Amino acid sequence: MIRATVWGENVHEHTNAIVGELYPDGLHGCIAAALNAAGGIAATTATLQEPEHGLSAARLAETDVLLWWGHCAHGDVQDEVVERVAEAVWGGMGLILLHSSHFSKIFKRLMGTPCNLTWREAGERERLWVTSRGHPIARGLPDHFELEHEEMYGEPFGVPEPLETVFVSWFQGGEVFRSGLTWRRGAGNVFYFRPGHETYPTFHDANVQTVLANAVRWAHNPAPRLTAVGDAPNVPVHKAPEKIEERGPKLHSHGEEGFR
Ligand code: ZN
Repeated sequence: MIRATVWGENVHEHTNAIVGELYPDGLHGCIAAALNAAGGIAATTATLQEPEHGLSAARLAETDVLLWWGHCAHGDVQDEVVERVAEAVWGGMGLILLHSSHFSKIFKRLMGTPCNLTWREAGERERLWVTSRGHPIARGLPDHFELEHEEMYGEPFGVPEPLETVFVSWFQGGEVFRSGLTWRRGAGNVFYFRPGHETYPTFHDANVQTVLANAVRWAHNPAPRLTAVGDAPNVPVHKAPEKIEERGPKLHSHGEEGFR
């Protein structure tokens, strides 16, 4: 079983009647239920309001793939938790960013770019095209599928060039957007998936649920989690793979930590 944790900001479910009606168990609850029904995935949830946002070191250690949905409260996520999640990704945890999580601290941290885009909330039709045939994340999908009501996200999308582009979206208003992108950060697989505006029933859509389950399986790295991923050890002369003699002037003294 792949252990997935679905993280939800869990704000608009309680402050907006439409969102509360569409997602009575929260967006995170809806997504976790879909993953649990998909087979081979054991999904649980965590939310912003829990201590450490539900993402303690112990919780991350038993999470193979973390899914993230956030929108209005990105700024409320503690930097310490963001750094902990980044280290887990570098160590091999999979991370899936959904919709407005393009502006989450963790996504910007891992991308190192503004992650900005153009947008419009007009309930327009989105047509997603599979641009990478046979990609594991697109398994079982038709060559394109539609969401009748979605928020528009348009290019340019301010992210680094991805490893793979799995989906491109067209919107009724004419814009296009790279809506399914993969990266690798350290030992971790990262996937961004665009759909999922909270006032629409996107996460109830069967094709979207297929993408999410596929993405969890794709992002799962079965190798043991790497630890101390930020270490930068000094290799003393006597431990060099080939025998060498120390020569020339030196900046560092023996046993020193080195600069950061
Ligand atoms: Zn949105």
